[in-house]
Amino acid sequence: MFFDEPDFEPDRIASVLVPVAVPGPYTYRVPVGCHVQPGTIVRVPLGTREVLGAVWDGEPDAAINPKKLKAMAHVYQDARPLDPDLRRFVDWVANWTLAAPGMVLRMVLRSEEALQPEPPVPGVRRIEGAEPDRMTAARQRVLAAMEDGFAWTKSGLAHAAGVSASVIDGLLQQNVLEGVALPATPPPPIPDVDYARTVLTASQQRAADQLIEAFDSGSAVSLIDGVTGSGKTEVYFEAIAEAIRRGKQALVLLPEIALTEQFLRRFEKRFGVYPAEWHSEISPKNRARVWRGVASGDVRVVIGARSALFLPFSDLGLIVVDEEHDTAFKQDDRVPYSARDMAVVRGHISRFPVILASATPSVESRVNADLNRYRHVLLPERATGAELPELKAIDMRHDGPERGQWIAPQLLSAIKDAFGNGAQTLLFLNRRGYAPLTLCRTCGHRFQCGHCSAWLVEHRFQKRLVCHHCGHSEKVPDSCPSCGTADSLVACGPGVERIAEEVGGKFPEARVLVLSSDLPGGPDRLRREMKIVEDGGADIVIGTQLVAKGHNFPKMKLVGVIDADLGLANGDPRAAEKTFQLLGQVTGRAGRVTGGGVGFLQTYAPDNPVIKALLASDANAFYLAEIDARRNAGLPPFGRLAAIVVSGPDKAMADGFSRAVARAAPQDGAVTILGPAEAALAMVRGRYRYRLLAMAPRQFDLQGYIRAWLAAGPKPVKGLRVQVDIDPQHFL
Ligand code: ADP
Ligand code: ZN
Repeated sequence: MFFDEPDFEPDRIASVLVPVAVPGPYTYRVPVGCHVQPGTIVRVPLGTREVLGAVWDGEPDAAINPKKLKAMAHVYQDARPLDPDLRRFVDWVANWTLAAPGMVLRMVLRSEEALQPEPPVPGVRRIEGAEPDRMTAARQRVLAAMEDGFAWTKSGLAHAAGVSASVIDGLLQQNVLEGVALPATPPPPIPDVDYARTVLTASQQRAADQLIEAFDSGSAVSLIDGVTGSGKTEVYFEAIAEAIRRGKQALVLLPEIALTEQFLRRFEKRFGVYPAEWHSEISPKNRARVWRGVASGDVRVVIGARSALFLPFSDLGLIVVDEEHDTAFKQDDRVPYSARDMAVVRGHISRFPVILASATPSVESRVNADLNRYRHVLLPERATGAELPELKAIDMRHDGPERGQWIAPQLLSAIKDAFGNGAQTLLFLNRRGYAPLTLCRTCGHRFQCGHCSAWLVEHRFQKRLVCHHCGHSEKVPDSCPSCGTADSLVACGPGVERIAEEVGGKFPEARVLVLSSDLPGGPDRLRREMKIVEDGGADIVIGTQLVAKGHNFPKMKLVGVIDADLGLANGDPRAAEKTFQLLGQVTGRAGRVTGGGVGFLQTYAPDNPVIKALLASDANAFYLAEIDARRNAGLPPFGRLAAIVVSGPDKAMADGFSRAVARAAPQDGAVTILGPAEAALAMVRGRYRYRLLAMAPRQFDLQGYIRAWLAAGPKPVKGLRVQVDIDPQHFL
C-alpha cells in the first residue's frame, strides 16, 4: 500500500484511462519505485472499488492538489504496455462512436488473469531410489510409467497408468514421488507457410498476387468479391502466409462462432497448426493465454469474433474480415461499433493491409471498390469449376401448398428427387422455434412478452413460449390464461421446428436435422451438427440464417427458401440489400463443389426487384440499381445516418423526453432529423423506446453535430437513457 506520506513523491503523477463512461483520463499518483509510461497497465481505486486501467497519453492534471490524488494500487510491471497504435485506435473508436474512451479500453483489458505470467502447472516426479512400503499392481503401473525419469502432471500420470488419483497421492505421502512445478504451456508453433500449399486456379492466383502486392503499398484495403465457392478462403490464406513470412501477426474475423470449427480445420490443413481462437465461448484460462501470446508475439494467427479487434497484438500485419457484409460485425450495445469499419481504421493507423471478403459485398464496400478506394479483387467462377445454382421462383399465390402446410408441391418433388439421388437439401427459414405467434382459438388471446412488445414464440422441443428479445420464457399452458378453455391454443405461421415436423411427415425415412442457434446444447452441439452436415450425415437440413453463412457443405444440391419475402417489408433502408445477401448466400450453399445445384424461392412477390435479380443471377444489376437508389435518397454510403434511441421505464416520460431531445437539435440546413417515433420494438426488457434519426451528407461532421446537440440538450434523469448509434445497421 502506498498511503504513507513519506513515500509520496509529488511530481510523480500520471493520466489513467479507467473503464467507465467518463469523458477522459483521471490523474493518479505513481507509487514509489514504480516505472510507468503511456500504455502501462495499472489497477487503480475508483470510488469504492478497484479497476483495471491504462496510463494514457496527454498531460496529467497538475492543478489538482496532490494530497487529494489517489495512488495507483498496482502497476503491472511485467505486462507489455499497450502500444501507441492501439492507444490511438482506442481513442479513434471512442471519437467515432461517441462512446467514452474508457468503455473502449474495457474491450482491450478483457482478461485480468492475462496480466500475470501463466502459473506453473503442478506435477510429480520419482524420487530416485525411493520405494513404497508395499507394492501393489496399481503402484507398479505408476512406477513403470515413470521409468524414463520425466515429470508428469498428476492427471496425466493417472491416465497413463490407468490408476485413480489417490494411488498417486499415496506415493506422494510415502515420499516415493515429489511435487514439482512444470513450466506452463509452451508457446504455440508458428504456422508453416509451406505445409500444404494449394494449387490455385489462374484467377485465384491473380487474386492472391493482388493481395500480396498490397503489403508493399502501406495501408491498403482489398475487397475480395467472389461468388460462393470461388475459393476466397484459399486466396486470403496466401495473404496470411505472406504476413507470417514477413514475421507479422494476422487476424481473421468471422461473423459467427459456429463457423470457427470448419475454419480451424481448414487452417490446420493448410498451415499444419491450429490458429488461436478468440470469442465469447473460450475459457478464461485460454482467454488469458491468447491475450498473453498475442501481446508477446508468440501467437501469430488469431481467428475470432469482432472483439478480437481489440487484442493487444505486438506486431499485427494483416486483418481479414470474412463475410464482410454480415451485420453481426456491428455491435449494438455499450460501444456501438462496426468491426468491419474499425478493422479498416486499425489497418490505416498501423499501415498494414486489410482484406474484406464476401460473395455479396455490402453496398458500402462495393462503392468504395468502384471508386478505387479499395482494390476490387474479383473471383467470378467457382474454384472447382462447378456452375452456380439455378434459381427458380415458386409463386405462392397460385402454386402454394394447402392450408396449414408451408412447402409447395414443386419444392416437395425436388426434395424427393434429391433424396432419391443421395443429395442433401437445405430448407431455409429465418425464424427460430415452432411458430412465431400463438393464440387462443376460442377468445383470440395472443401470447405477448410482458417485458417487450413482441409475441412469444412457441418452441415445441422445449415445450415453452419464448421471447426472442429478452429471453423470457414460460411453459406452454394447458388452457388459455384469458378464457380458460383447455387445449385451445393454435400456432400461427411457421418456424424451423414446424417445417421439420412437416418434412418428417412427408419423408419419414430421411435423416432430418434442425440447425438453429437456440436449441439446447449451445455452440458445441452446433459445431457437431455442422460437421454432420458437412460429412453428409443428414439428408434434409432445416436452418435459420446461421446456415447461410460461409459453410461448405459438399453434398448439398438443393436449397429451398420457405419465405423469400421475409425481411423485404420493413423500415430498414438496407432491407433490399440484406435480403439479396442472405438469399444469395443461402442459395449459394447448393452445388458448391459438384455443381448442378438448384434453389427455389417461395414468394408472394415474384416481381420484386430483389427476387428478380436473384432469379436472373445478376448481382451486378442489383448492385447498380441499389447504389442508384441510395444515391438518390442520400442514404449510406452517399449520406450519413445516426440513430438516437431514448428509453426509460415510464412510457410518458420516455416519450416526453424524446421530444425534448428533438427540440434541442441545433438548426443546420445540412441535417434532417426524423422522429421521434415509437421504435418498432416499442418496449424491450421493460424499457419504452423512442427513436430519432439524423441524416446528413457524406462529408458532414455528424459526430460533431451530435456532440453539440447532446451537450446543449436536456439531461437524462430517472432511469432515462440516450444511446447514440453512428451508422446504425439495425432499426428496430
Ligand atoms: P468461398 O470462401 O469463396 O465460398 P471456399 O474457399 O470455401 O470458397 O472454396 C470452396 C470449395 O472449393 C472448397 O471445398 C475448397 O476446398 C475448394 N477449392 C478452393 N480452391 C481450390 C483449388 N484451387 N483447387 C481445388 N479446390 C479448391
Ligand atoms: Zn421479452
